[in-house]
Amino acid sequence: MAVPFQNIKIGEVLVESGYISQQQVESALAQQKNSGGKKLGEVILEMGLVSETQLARALEKRLKVPYVDLSTTKLDTAAVGKIPENIAKDKTVIAFQQSGNRLLVATNDPVNFYVFDELKVITGMEIVPRLSTKTQIEAAINKFYSAQAIDSTMSDLESEAGGDVTQDLAAAESEGRIDNAPIVKLVNMMVETAFRMKCTDIHIEAFKDRTRIRFRIDGELVEQEMKIPPSFHNSIITRIKILAGMNIAERRIPLDGRFGTKIDGINLDMRVSTIPCVYGEKCVIRLLSTADAAAKKITDLGMTDYNYEMFKQIIRCPNGVMLVTGPTGSGKSTTLYATLGELSKPNVNIVTVEDPVEKKIDGINQCQINDKAGMTFAAALRSILRQDPDVIMVGEIRDGETADIAIRAAITGHFVLSTLHTNDAASTILRLVDMGVEPYMVATSVVGIIAQRLVKLLCTSCKETFILDDPDELKLMDLNKPAQICRPHPGGCKSCHGSGYSGRTAIHEIIVTTPDIKELISSGGTAEQIGAQARKNGTLLLRDNVTKMVLAGKTSMDELVKATYTV
Ligand SMILES: [Zn+2]
Repeated sequence: MAVPFQNIKIGEVLVESGYISQQQVESALAQQKNSGGKKLGEVILEMGLVSETQLARALEKRLKVPYVDLSTTKLDTAAVGKIPENIAKDKTVIAFQQSGNRLLVATNDPVNFYVFDELKVITGMEIVPRLSTKTQIEAAINKFYSAQAIDSTMSDLESEAGGDVTQDLAAAESEGRIDNAPIVKLVNMMVETAFRMKCTDIHIEAFKDRTRIRFRIDGELVEQEMKIPPSFHNSIITRIKILAGMNIAERRIPLDGRFGTKIDGINLDMRVSTIPCVYGEKCVIRLLSTADAAAKKITDLGMTDYNYEMFKQIIRCPNGVMLVTGPTGSGKSTTLYATLGELSKPNVNIVTVEDPVEKKIDGINQCQINDKAGMTFAAALRSILRQDPDVIMVGEIRDGETADIAIRAAITGHFVLSTLHTNDAASTILRLVDMGVEPYMVATSVVGIIAQRLVKLLCTSCKETFILDDPDELKLMDLNKPAQICRPHPGGCKSCHGSGYSGRTAIHEIIVTTPDIKELISSGGTAEQIGAQARKNGTLLLRDNVTKMVLAGKTSMDELVKATYTV
Protein backbone atom coordinates (compact mmCIF):
# COMPACT_ATOMS: atom_id res chain seq x y z
CA MET A 1 0.00 0.00 0.00
CA ALA A 2 2.95 2.32 -0.66
CA VAL A 3 1.44 3.91 -3.74
CA PRO A 4 -0.11 7.32 -3.00
CA PHE A 5 -3.60 6.39 -4.14
CA GLN A 6 -5.10 9.81 -3.49
CA ASN A 7 -3.19 11.34 -6.37
CA ILE A 8 -4.53 8.97 -8.94
CA LYS A 9 -7.28 10.25 -11.18
CA ILE A 10 -9.64 7.61 -12.35
CA GLY A 11 -10.19 9.42 -15.66
CA GLU A 12 -6.48 9.31 -16.49
CA VAL A 13 -6.30 5.63 -15.62
CA LEU A 14 -9.12 4.84 -18.03
CA VAL A 15 -7.64 6.94 -20.82
CA GLU A 16 -4.24 5.30 -20.32
CA SER A 17 -5.83 1.86 -20.45
CA GLY A 18 -7.43 2.84 -23.74
CA TYR A 19 -11.01 2.34 -22.52
CA ILE A 20 -12.18 5.91 -23.07
CA SER A 21 -11.01 9.11 -24.78
CA GLN A 22 -9.90 12.37 -23.16
CA GLN A 23 -13.03 13.97 -24.62
CA GLN A 24 -15.23 11.44 -22.85
CA VAL A 25 -13.46 12.14 -19.55
CA GLU A 26 -14.21 15.83 -20.00
CA SER A 27 -17.89 15.27 -20.70
CA ALA A 28 -18.03 12.99 -17.63
CA LEU A 29 -16.34 15.70 -15.55
CA ALA A 30 -18.95 18.20 -16.77
CA GLN A 31 -21.73 15.78 -15.83
CA GLN A 32 -20.13 15.18 -12.43
CA LYS A 33 -20.47 18.88 -11.56
CA ASN A 34 -24.28 18.55 -11.66
CA SER A 35 -24.40 15.13 -10.02
CA GLY A 36 -24.54 16.28 -6.43
CA GLY A 37 -21.21 14.97 -5.23
CA LYS A 38 -20.90 11.67 -7.09
CA LYS A 39 -17.48 10.18 -7.75
CA LEU A 40 -16.10 10.40 -11.28
CA GLY A 41 -15.97 6.61 -11.51
CA GLU A 42 -19.70 6.37 -10.72
CA VAL A 43 -20.55 9.01 -13.32
CA ILE A 44 -18.51 7.21 -15.98
CA LEU A 45 -20.32 3.96 -15.15
CA GLU A 46 -23.73 5.65 -15.29
CA MET A 47 -22.90 7.14 -18.68
CA GLY A 48 -22.16 3.61 -19.86
CA LEU A 49 -18.69 4.55 -21.11
CA VAL A 50 -17.09 1.49 -19.51
CA SER A 51 -18.37 -1.65 -17.81
CA GLU A 52 -17.89 -2.25 -14.10
CA THR A 53 -15.35 -4.97 -14.87
CA GLN A 54 -13.38 -2.71 -17.21
CA LEU A 55 -13.25 -0.05 -14.52
CA ALA A 56 -12.03 -2.57 -11.96
CA ARG A 57 -9.45 -3.98 -14.38
CA ALA A 58 -8.12 -0.50 -15.17
CA LEU A 59 -7.82 0.29 -11.47
CA GLU A 60 -6.10 -3.03 -10.87
CA LYS A 61 -3.41 -2.19 -13.41
CA ARG A 62 -2.80 1.26 -12.11
CA LEU A 63 -3.15 0.77 -8.37
CA LYS A 64 -1.52 -2.66 -8.34
CA VAL A 65 -4.40 -3.93 -6.21
CA PRO A 66 -5.29 -7.38 -7.54
CA TYR A 67 -8.78 -7.90 -8.99
CA VAL A 68 -10.90 -10.68 -7.56
CA ASP A 69 -13.90 -12.24 -9.30
CA LEU A 70 -16.21 -12.96 -6.39
CA SER A 71 -18.56 -15.01 -8.52
CA THR A 72 -15.87 -17.64 -9.05
CA THR A 73 -13.89 -17.29 -5.80
CA LYS A 74 -14.61 -19.48 -2.80
CA LEU A 75 -15.71 -17.26 0.06
CA ASP A 76 -14.73 -18.26 3.60
CA THR A 77 -17.86 -17.75 5.72
CA ALA A 78 -15.79 -17.25 8.88
CA ALA A 79 -13.96 -14.39 7.16
CA VAL A 80 -17.24 -12.90 5.90
CA GLY A 81 -18.50 -12.80 9.48
CA LYS A 82 -15.58 -10.63 10.67
CA ILE A 83 -17.33 -7.57 9.26
CA PRO A 84 -20.85 -6.87 10.58
CA GLU A 85 -23.54 -6.98 7.91
CA ASN A 86 -24.61 -3.32 8.28
CA ILE A 87 -21.02 -2.11 7.83
CA ALA A 88 -20.51 -4.36 4.81
CA LYS A 89 -23.69 -3.03 3.18
CA ASP A 90 -22.97 0.57 4.07
CA LYS A 91 -19.38 0.59 2.79
CA THR A 92 -19.85 -1.94 -0.06
CA VAL A 93 -17.12 -4.25 1.22
CA ILE A 94 -17.00 -7.96 1.92
CA ALA A 95 -14.25 -9.93 3.68
CA PHE A 96 -13.71 -13.16 1.80
CA GLN A 97 -10.54 -14.87 3.05
CA GLN A 98 -8.26 -14.75 6.06
CA SER A 99 -4.81 -16.04 6.88
CA GLY A 100 -3.21 -15.35 10.24
CA ASN A 101 -4.00 -11.77 11.09
CA ARG A 102 -4.61 -10.73 7.48
CA LEU A 103 -8.15 -10.24 6.25
CA LEU A 104 -8.76 -10.03 2.50
CA VAL A 105 -11.51 -7.52 1.78
CA ALA A 106 -13.11 -6.90 -1.60
CA THR A 107 -13.92 -3.27 -2.35
CA ASN A 108 -14.80 -1.22 -5.41
CA ASP A 109 -12.97 1.78 -3.95
CA PRO A 110 -9.43 0.81 -2.84
CA VAL A 111 -8.45 4.47 -2.49
CA ASN A 112 -10.74 5.02 0.48
CA PHE A 113 -8.35 4.60 3.42
CA TYR A 114 -10.88 5.74 6.00
CA VAL A 115 -12.89 2.60 5.41
CA PHE A 116 -9.85 0.36 5.88
CA ASP A 117 -8.93 2.15 9.09
CA GLU A 118 -12.44 1.64 10.37
CA LEU A 119 -12.41 -2.04 9.40
CA LYS A 120 -9.05 -2.47 11.10
CA VAL A 121 -10.50 -1.13 14.36
CA ILE A 122 -13.66 -3.29 14.08
CA THR A 123 -11.89 -6.54 13.22
CA GLY A 124 -8.55 -6.01 14.93
CA MET A 125 -6.95 -7.45 11.80
CA GLU A 126 -4.74 -6.15 9.06
CA ILE A 127 -6.95 -5.28 6.08
CA VAL A 128 -5.69 -6.34 2.65
CA PRO A 129 -7.83 -4.72 -0.07
CA ARG A 130 -8.79 -6.50 -3.27
CA LEU A 131 -10.64 -4.90 -6.15
CA SER A 132 -14.04 -6.05 -7.27
CA THR A 133 -17.17 -4.57 -8.79
CA LYS A 134 -20.05 -3.09 -6.84
CA THR A 135 -22.49 -5.59 -8.37
CA GLN A 136 -20.38 -8.58 -7.36
CA ILE A 137 -19.81 -7.27 -3.85
CA GLU A 138 -23.50 -6.59 -3.31
CA ALA A 139 -24.47 -10.01 -4.63
CA ALA A 140 -21.93 -11.67 -2.31
CA ILE A 141 -23.20 -9.67 0.68
CA ASN A 142 -26.79 -10.72 0.02
CA LYS A 143 -25.85 -14.34 -0.39
CA PHE A 144 -23.32 -14.86 2.37
CA TYR A 145 -24.78 -12.91 5.26
CA SER A 146 -28.04 -14.82 4.85
CA ALA A 147 -26.19 -18.15 4.69
CA GLN A 148 -24.15 -17.22 7.73
CA ALA A 149 -27.21 -16.19 9.72
CA ILE A 150 -28.89 -19.49 8.88
CA ASP A 151 -25.80 -21.40 10.03
CA SER A 152 -25.68 -19.57 13.34
CA THR A 153 -29.43 -20.00 13.85
CA MET A 154 -29.01 -23.70 13.21
CA SER A 155 -26.33 -23.94 15.87
CA ASP A 156 -28.59 -22.02 18.29
CA LEU A 157 -31.26 -24.58 17.53
CA GLU A 158 -28.89 -27.46 18.09
CA SER A 159 -27.88 -26.12 21.48
CA GLU A 160 -31.54 -25.97 22.40
CA ALA A 161 -32.24 -29.43 21.02
CA GLY A 162 -33.87 -31.83 23.38
CA GLY A 163 -36.42 -29.31 24.56
CA ASP A 164 -39.81 -29.13 22.94
CA VAL A 165 -39.23 -26.36 20.44
CA THR A 166 -42.90 -26.11 19.51
CA GLN A 167 -43.88 -25.38 23.09
CA ASP A 168 -41.10 -22.82 23.28
CA LEU A 169 -42.54 -21.17 20.22
CA ALA A 170 -45.99 -20.81 21.73
CA ALA A 171 -44.47 -19.55 24.99
CA ALA A 172 -42.25 -17.12 23.13
CA GLU A 173 -45.20 -15.74 21.22
CA SER A 174 -47.29 -15.17 24.31
CA GLU A 175 -44.40 -13.40 25.97
CA GLY A 176 -43.90 -11.12 23.00
CA ARG A 177 -40.30 -12.20 22.39
CA ILE A 178 -41.14 -14.10 19.22
CA ASP A 179 -38.66 -12.25 17.00
CA ASN A 180 -35.75 -13.73 18.88
CA ALA A 181 -36.82 -17.37 18.90
CA PRO A 182 -34.31 -19.31 16.76
CA ILE A 183 -37.03 -21.02 14.72
CA VAL A 184 -38.57 -17.67 13.91
CA LYS A 185 -35.21 -16.34 12.81
CA LEU A 186 -34.65 -19.44 10.72
CA VAL A 187 -37.97 -19.06 8.89
CA ASN A 188 -37.34 -15.34 8.32
CA MET A 189 -33.86 -16.03 6.97
CA MET A 190 -35.18 -18.76 4.70
CA VAL A 191 -37.79 -16.46 3.16
CA GLU A 192 -35.31 -13.60 2.79
CA THR A 193 -32.68 -15.81 1.19
CA ALA A 194 -35.27 -17.25 -1.17
CA PHE A 195 -36.48 -13.82 -2.22
CA ARG A 196 -32.96 -12.55 -2.86
CA MET A 197 -32.16 -15.61 -4.98
CA LYS A 198 -35.24 -14.76 -7.12
CA CYS A 199 -36.95 -17.94 -5.98
CA THR A 200 -40.66 -18.38 -6.69
CA ASP A 201 -41.48 -21.32 -4.39
CA ILE A 202 -39.95 -22.73 -1.23
CA HIS A 203 -40.46 -26.45 -0.61
CA ILE A 204 -40.01 -27.76 2.93
CA GLU A 205 -40.12 -31.54 3.02
CA ALA A 206 -39.76 -34.09 5.81
CA PHE A 207 -37.74 -37.26 5.31
CA LYS A 208 -36.67 -39.97 7.72
CA ASP A 209 -33.39 -38.37 8.73
CA ARG A 210 -33.59 -34.75 7.60
CA THR A 211 -35.73 -31.88 6.42
CA ARG A 212 -35.03 -30.91 2.86
CA ILE A 213 -35.34 -27.30 1.69
CA ARG A 214 -35.59 -26.66 -2.04
CA PHE A 215 -36.05 -23.37 -3.89
CA ARG A 216 -37.60 -23.11 -7.33
CA ILE A 217 -35.42 -20.74 -9.34
CA ASP A 218 -36.09 -20.16 -13.06
CA GLY A 219 -38.51 -23.07 -13.00
CA GLU A 220 -36.09 -25.64 -11.55
CA LEU A 221 -35.99 -26.93 -7.98
CA VAL A 222 -32.58 -26.36 -6.41
CA GLU A 223 -31.75 -28.10 -3.13
CA GLN A 224 -30.40 -25.73 -0.47
CA GLU A 225 -27.50 -26.59 1.77
CA MET A 226 -29.29 -26.16 5.05
CA LYS A 227 -28.72 -29.08 7.36
CA ILE A 228 -31.94 -29.26 9.31
CA PRO A 229 -32.41 -32.24 11.63
CA PRO A 230 -35.84 -33.92 11.45
CA SER A 231 -36.65 -32.96 15.04
CA PHE A 232 -37.06 -29.33 13.96
CA HIS A 233 -39.41 -30.03 11.12
CA ASN A 234 -42.63 -29.63 13.06
CA SER A 235 -41.47 -26.41 14.68
CA ILE A 236 -40.66 -24.86 11.30
CA ILE A 237 -44.05 -25.85 9.91
CA THR A 238 -45.76 -24.56 13.08
CA ARG A 239 -44.04 -21.20 12.76
CA ILE A 240 -45.10 -20.88 9.12
CA LYS A 241 -48.66 -21.87 10.01
CA ILE A 242 -48.79 -19.22 12.75
CA LEU A 243 -47.63 -16.61 10.24
CA ALA A 244 -50.17 -17.71 7.65
CA GLY A 245 -53.07 -17.89 10.12
CA MET A 246 -53.48 -21.65 9.76
CA ASN A 247 -54.60 -24.21 12.32
CA ILE A 248 -51.41 -25.44 14.03
CA ALA A 249 -53.18 -28.32 15.74
CA GLU A 250 -54.40 -29.86 12.48
CA ARG A 251 -51.74 -32.02 10.86
CA ARG A 252 -53.85 -34.68 9.15
CA ILE A 253 -55.43 -32.73 6.30
CA PRO A 254 -54.16 -30.30 3.64
CA LEU A 255 -54.38 -26.65 4.69
CA ASP A 256 -53.70 -23.33 3.08
CA GLY A 257 -53.10 -19.78 4.22
CA ARG A 258 -51.23 -16.63 3.40
CA PHE A 259 -49.17 -13.87 4.94
CA GLY A 260 -47.53 -10.66 3.86
CA THR A 261 -44.02 -9.45 4.55
CA LYS A 262 -41.58 -6.80 3.40
CA ILE A 263 -38.03 -7.63 2.27
CA ASP A 264 -35.55 -5.03 1.04
CA GLY A 265 -38.40 -2.55 0.81
CA ILE A 266 -40.54 -4.77 -1.44
CA ASN A 267 -43.95 -6.01 -0.33
CA LEU A 268 -44.35 -9.74 -0.70
CA ASP A 269 -47.43 -11.91 -0.52
CA MET A 270 -46.77 -15.51 0.59
CA ARG A 271 -49.25 -18.26 -0.15
CA VAL A 272 -48.73 -21.29 2.04
CA SER A 273 -49.97 -24.79 1.43
CA THR A 274 -49.37 -27.88 3.58
CA ILE A 275 -50.13 -31.51 2.92
CA PRO A 276 -49.59 -34.48 5.26
CA CYS A 277 -46.85 -36.91 4.14
CA VAL A 278 -45.46 -40.01 5.85
CA TYR A 279 -42.66 -38.24 7.76
CA GLY A 280 -44.54 -35.03 8.48
CA GLU A 281 -46.23 -32.21 6.64
CA LYS A 282 -44.81 -30.95 3.37
CA CYS A 283 -45.08 -27.21 3.08
CA VAL A 284 -44.82 -25.09 -0.05
CA ILE A 285 -44.58 -21.30 0.15
CA ARG A 286 -45.18 -19.36 -3.03
CA LEU A 287 -43.57 -15.93 -3.11
CA LEU A 288 -45.61 -13.33 -4.94
CA SER A 289 -44.18 -9.88 -5.30
CA THR A 290 -46.99 -7.35 -5.09
CA ALA A 291 -44.77 -4.55 -6.34
CA ASP A 292 -44.70 -2.86 -9.75
CA ALA A 293 -46.99 -5.38 -11.42
CA ALA A 294 -48.37 -2.74 -13.74
CA ALA A 295 -44.89 -1.52 -14.60
CA LYS A 296 -44.02 -4.68 -16.54
CA LYS A 297 -44.71 -4.16 -20.21
CA ILE A 298 -45.53 -7.04 -22.47
CA THR A 299 -42.37 -6.41 -24.50
CA ASP A 300 -40.33 -6.77 -21.28
CA LEU A 301 -41.69 -10.32 -20.99
CA GLY A 302 -39.83 -11.39 -24.11
CA MET A 303 -42.43 -10.75 -26.81
CA THR A 304 -40.65 -10.06 -30.09
CA ASP A 305 -41.41 -6.91 -32.09
CA TYR A 306 -42.97 -9.06 -34.78
CA ASN A 307 -45.35 -10.72 -32.32
CA TYR A 308 -46.04 -7.43 -30.57
CA GLU A 309 -47.44 -6.03 -33.82
CA MET A 310 -49.89 -8.97 -34.01
CA PHE A 311 -50.70 -8.58 -30.32
CA LYS A 312 -51.57 -4.91 -30.88
CA GLN A 313 -53.97 -5.89 -33.69
CA ILE A 314 -55.81 -8.03 -31.14
CA ILE A 315 -56.05 -5.53 -28.30
CA ARG A 316 -57.13 -2.75 -30.66
CA CYS A 317 -60.46 -4.57 -31.07
CA PRO A 318 -63.13 -2.75 -29.05
CA ASN A 319 -64.78 -6.00 -28.02
CA GLY A 320 -64.12 -9.72 -28.27
CA VAL A 321 -62.34 -12.52 -26.42
CA MET A 322 -58.56 -12.75 -26.22
CA LEU A 323 -57.27 -16.08 -24.95
CA VAL A 324 -53.86 -16.95 -23.54
CA THR A 325 -53.00 -20.62 -23.50
CA GLY A 326 -50.19 -22.81 -22.24
CA PRO A 327 -49.32 -25.31 -19.50
CA THR A 328 -49.23 -24.40 -15.79
CA GLY A 329 -46.26 -22.20 -15.01
CA SER A 330 -45.89 -20.83 -18.53
CA GLY A 331 -46.42 -17.25 -17.41
CA LYS A 332 -50.01 -16.90 -18.67
CA SER A 333 -51.15 -14.68 -15.83
CA THR A 334 -48.10 -12.43 -16.16
CA THR A 335 -49.12 -11.91 -19.79
CA LEU A 336 -52.72 -11.17 -18.78
CA TYR A 337 -51.55 -8.61 -16.21
CA ALA A 338 -49.27 -6.96 -18.75
CA THR A 339 -52.19 -6.83 -21.21
CA LEU A 340 -54.36 -5.19 -18.57
CA GLY A 341 -51.54 -2.69 -18.13
CA GLU A 342 -51.74 -1.89 -21.87
CA LEU A 343 -55.53 -1.55 -21.70
CA SER A 344 -55.72 0.40 -18.45
CA LYS A 345 -56.82 4.01 -18.97
CA PRO A 346 -58.73 6.37 -16.70
CA ASN A 347 -61.84 6.10 -18.90
CA VAL A 348 -61.89 2.27 -18.91
CA ASN A 349 -63.52 0.16 -16.20
CA ILE A 350 -61.49 -3.02 -15.76
CA VAL A 351 -62.76 -5.84 -13.55
CA THR A 352 -61.06 -9.18 -12.93
CA VAL A 353 -62.20 -12.49 -11.46
CA GLU A 354 -59.23 -14.50 -10.33
CA ASP A 355 -58.31 -17.60 -8.38
CA PRO A 356 -56.03 -16.56 -6.75
CA VAL A 357 -55.47 -12.84 -7.16
CA GLU A 358 -51.73 -13.09 -7.83
CA LYS A 359 -50.81 -9.46 -8.09
CA LYS A 360 -52.63 -6.41 -6.90
CA ILE A 361 -52.77 -3.74 -9.58
CA ASP A 362 -53.60 -0.13 -8.88
CA GLY A 363 -56.70 1.14 -10.64
CA ILE A 364 -58.17 -2.29 -11.42
CA ASN A 365 -61.06 -3.96 -9.55
CA GLN A 366 -59.93 -7.47 -8.68
CA CYS A 367 -62.29 -10.12 -7.27
CA GLN A 368 -61.19 -13.32 -5.60
CA ILE A 369 -63.05 -16.56 -6.37
CA ASN A 370 -64.37 -18.41 -3.35
CA ASP A 371 -65.99 -21.69 -4.36
CA LYS A 372 -67.11 -22.55 -0.81
CA ALA A 373 -69.01 -19.28 -0.52
CA GLY A 374 -70.60 -19.77 -3.95
CA MET A 375 -68.41 -17.15 -5.63
CA THR A 376 -67.55 -19.27 -8.66
CA PHE A 377 -66.15 -17.96 -11.94
CA ALA A 378 -69.61 -18.18 -13.53
CA ALA A 379 -71.41 -16.49 -10.61
CA ALA A 380 -68.80 -13.74 -10.32
CA LEU A 381 -68.94 -13.09 -14.06
CA ARG A 382 -72.71 -12.67 -14.00
CA SER A 383 -72.45 -10.08 -11.21
CA ILE A 384 -69.59 -8.26 -12.89
CA LEU A 385 -71.63 -7.77 -16.04
CA ARG A 386 -74.01 -5.66 -13.94
CA GLN A 387 -71.06 -3.48 -12.86
CA ASP A 388 -70.75 -1.64 -16.18
CA PRO A 389 -67.35 -3.07 -17.15
CA ASP A 390 -65.38 -2.31 -20.34
CA VAL A 391 -62.69 -4.91 -19.91
CA ILE A 392 -63.15 -8.17 -18.03
CA MET A 393 -60.40 -10.59 -17.14
CA VAL A 394 -61.43 -14.10 -16.19
CA GLY A 395 -58.50 -15.92 -14.55
CA GLU A 396 -59.35 -19.19 -16.28
CA ILE A 397 -62.14 -20.71 -18.33
CA ARG A 398 -62.63 -24.06 -16.60
CA ASP A 399 -66.10 -25.08 -17.70
CA GLY A 400 -68.74 -24.62 -20.38
CA GLU A 401 -70.83 -22.28 -18.25
CA THR A 402 -67.95 -19.83 -17.75
CA ALA A 403 -67.02 -20.12 -21.44
CA ASP A 404 -70.60 -19.35 -22.45
CA ILE A 405 -70.92 -16.25 -20.23
CA ALA A 406 -67.49 -14.96 -21.29
CA ILE A 407 -68.37 -15.28 -24.96
CA ARG A 408 -71.77 -13.66 -24.54
CA ALA A 409 -70.09 -10.78 -22.67
CA ALA A 410 -67.73 -10.30 -25.62
CA ILE A 411 -70.55 -10.34 -28.14
CA THR A 412 -72.48 -7.75 -26.14
CA GLY A 413 -69.62 -5.25 -26.37
CA HIS A 414 -66.98 -6.11 -23.78
CA PHE A 415 -63.32 -6.98 -24.18
CA VAL A 416 -62.72 -10.25 -22.33
CA LEU A 417 -59.34 -11.79 -21.49
CA SER A 418 -58.87 -15.28 -20.19
CA THR A 419 -56.68 -18.38 -20.16
CA LEU A 420 -57.24 -21.97 -21.22
CA HIS A 421 -55.12 -25.10 -20.88
CA THR A 422 -54.27 -26.24 -24.39
CA ASN A 423 -51.18 -27.10 -26.39
CA ASP A 424 -51.16 -24.51 -29.10
CA ALA A 425 -53.12 -21.55 -30.32
CA ALA A 426 -55.14 -23.40 -32.95
CA SER A 427 -56.43 -26.16 -30.65
CA THR A 428 -57.73 -23.54 -28.19
CA ILE A 429 -60.60 -22.81 -30.55
CA LEU A 430 -61.66 -26.43 -30.66
CA ARG A 431 -61.38 -26.66 -26.88
CA LEU A 432 -64.08 -24.00 -26.60
CA VAL A 433 -66.26 -25.96 -29.02
CA ASP A 434 -65.67 -29.10 -26.91
CA MET A 435 -66.91 -27.14 -23.90
CA GLY A 436 -70.23 -26.72 -25.66
CA VAL A 437 -69.93 -23.30 -27.25
CA GLU A 438 -71.42 -23.15 -30.77
CA PRO A 439 -68.68 -22.81 -33.44
CA TYR A 440 -70.30 -19.68 -34.92
CA MET A 441 -70.29 -18.06 -31.44
CA VAL A 442 -66.57 -18.84 -31.11
CA ALA A 443 -65.93 -17.47 -34.60
CA THR A 444 -67.80 -14.26 -33.86
CA SER A 445 -66.30 -13.56 -30.44
CA VAL A 446 -62.67 -14.70 -30.40
CA VAL A 447 -60.40 -11.95 -31.69
CA GLY A 448 -57.06 -13.55 -30.96
CA ILE A 449 -55.18 -16.35 -29.25
CA ILE A 450 -51.72 -16.32 -27.73
CA ALA A 451 -49.99 -19.61 -26.94
CA GLN A 452 -47.09 -19.23 -24.59
CA ARG A 453 -44.15 -21.11 -23.05
CA LEU A 454 -41.27 -20.10 -20.86
CA VAL A 455 -37.82 -20.93 -22.19
CA LYS A 456 -34.70 -20.98 -20.04
CA LEU A 457 -31.84 -18.81 -21.23
CA LEU A 458 -28.30 -20.19 -21.36
CA CYS A 459 -25.95 -18.72 -18.78
CA THR A 460 -23.87 -16.18 -20.70
CA SER A 461 -20.88 -16.79 -18.41
CA CYS A 462 -20.44 -20.47 -19.16
CA LYS A 463 -22.39 -21.52 -22.30
CA GLU A 464 -20.42 -23.50 -24.89
CA THR A 465 -20.66 -23.43 -28.66
CA PHE A 466 -20.69 -26.61 -30.72
CA ILE A 467 -21.61 -27.78 -34.18
CA LEU A 468 -24.97 -29.53 -34.28
CA ASP A 469 -24.84 -32.26 -36.89
CA ASP A 470 -27.31 -34.87 -35.61
CA PRO A 471 -29.73 -35.24 -38.54
CA ASP A 472 -32.77 -35.82 -36.28
CA GLU A 473 -32.07 -32.72 -34.24
CA LEU A 474 -31.40 -30.66 -37.35
CA LYS A 475 -34.75 -31.81 -38.67
CA LEU A 476 -36.43 -30.48 -35.51
CA MET A 477 -35.17 -27.07 -36.46
CA ASP A 478 -36.01 -27.41 -40.17
CA LEU A 479 -32.32 -27.27 -41.09
CA ASN A 480 -30.63 -29.33 -43.79
CA LYS A 481 -27.01 -28.64 -42.92
CA PRO A 482 -24.98 -28.56 -39.66
CA ALA A 483 -25.17 -25.34 -37.64
CA GLN A 484 -23.20 -23.81 -34.80
CA ILE A 485 -25.34 -23.42 -31.69
CA CYS A 486 -24.80 -23.31 -27.92
CA ARG A 487 -25.37 -25.72 -25.06
CA PRO A 488 -25.05 -25.44 -21.26
CA HIS A 489 -21.66 -26.11 -19.72
CA PRO A 490 -21.93 -29.39 -17.73
CA GLY A 491 -22.15 -28.42 -14.05
CA GLY A 492 -22.65 -24.74 -14.91
CA CYS A 493 -20.75 -22.07 -13.01
CA LYS A 494 -21.15 -19.97 -9.89
CA SER A 495 -23.19 -17.26 -11.50
CA CYS A 496 -25.86 -19.76 -12.63
CA HIS A 497 -25.86 -21.82 -9.40
CA GLY A 498 -24.42 -24.74 -11.36
CA SER A 499 -27.42 -25.10 -13.65
CA GLY A 500 -25.96 -23.75 -16.92
CA TYR A 501 -29.00 -21.50 -17.33
CA SER A 502 -29.81 -18.05 -16.06
CA GLY A 503 -33.21 -16.42 -16.37
CA ARG A 504 -36.15 -17.23 -18.60
CA THR A 505 -38.07 -15.55 -21.36
CA ALA A 506 -41.54 -16.08 -22.76
CA ILE A 507 -42.07 -17.19 -26.35
CA HIS A 508 -45.36 -16.70 -28.12
CA GLU A 509 -47.45 -18.06 -30.97
CA ILE A 510 -50.16 -15.61 -31.92
CA ILE A 511 -53.23 -16.15 -34.07
CA VAL A 512 -55.28 -13.15 -35.08
CA THR A 513 -58.74 -14.39 -36.05
CA THR A 514 -59.01 -12.80 -39.46
CA PRO A 515 -62.16 -13.40 -41.59
CA ASP A 516 -60.63 -16.47 -43.31
CA ILE A 517 -59.96 -18.06 -39.92
CA LYS A 518 -63.45 -17.19 -38.63
CA GLU A 519 -64.80 -18.90 -41.75
CA LEU A 520 -62.81 -22.05 -40.94
CA ILE A 521 -64.04 -22.07 -37.34
CA SER A 522 -67.71 -21.67 -38.32
CA SER A 523 -67.46 -24.43 -40.90
CA GLY A 524 -65.94 -26.87 -38.38
CA GLY A 525 -62.32 -26.78 -39.56
CA THR A 526 -59.70 -28.89 -37.74
CA ALA A 527 -56.91 -27.48 -35.57
CA GLU A 528 -54.46 -28.38 -38.38
CA GLN A 529 -56.45 -26.41 -40.95
CA ILE A 530 -56.75 -23.42 -38.65
CA GLY A 531 -53.04 -23.61 -37.80
CA ALA A 532 -52.05 -23.85 -41.47
CA GLN A 533 -54.18 -20.85 -42.42
CA ALA A 534 -52.77 -18.84 -39.49
CA ARG A 535 -49.23 -19.67 -40.63
CA LYS A 536 -50.10 -18.46 -44.10
CA ASN A 537 -51.32 -15.22 -42.48
CA GLY A 538 -47.98 -14.77 -40.75
CA THR A 539 -48.24 -16.61 -37.42
CA LEU A 540 -44.87 -17.84 -36.19
CA LEU A 541 -45.28 -21.14 -34.34
CA LEU A 542 -43.76 -21.67 -30.90
CA ARG A 543 -41.24 -23.90 -32.65
CA ASP A 544 -40.31 -21.17 -35.15
CA ASN A 545 -39.76 -18.71 -32.31
CA VAL A 546 -37.63 -21.03 -30.20
CA THR A 547 -35.62 -22.19 -33.23
CA LYS A 548 -34.58 -18.59 -33.82
CA MET A 549 -33.42 -18.40 -30.21
CA VAL A 550 -31.40 -21.61 -30.51
CA LEU A 551 -29.70 -20.35 -33.67
CA ALA A 552 -28.92 -17.07 -31.89
CA GLY A 553 -27.22 -19.03 -29.08
CA LYS A 554 -29.73 -17.83 -26.48
CA THR A 555 -31.12 -21.19 -25.53
CA SER A 556 -30.44 -24.92 -26.02
CA MET A 557 -31.86 -27.82 -28.04
CA ASP A 558 -33.22 -29.33 -24.80
CA GLU A 559 -35.31 -26.22 -24.25
CA LEU A 560 -36.54 -26.35 -27.82
CA VAL A 561 -37.76 -29.89 -27.33
CA LYS A 562 -39.39 -29.03 -24.00
CA ALA A 563 -41.06 -25.88 -25.30
CA THR A 564 -42.55 -27.57 -28.33
CA TYR A 565 -43.64 -30.87 -26.84
CA THR A 566 -44.89 -30.14 -23.33
CA VAL A 567 -48.61 -30.33 -22.83
ZN1 LIG B 1 -23.01 -20.40 -15.73
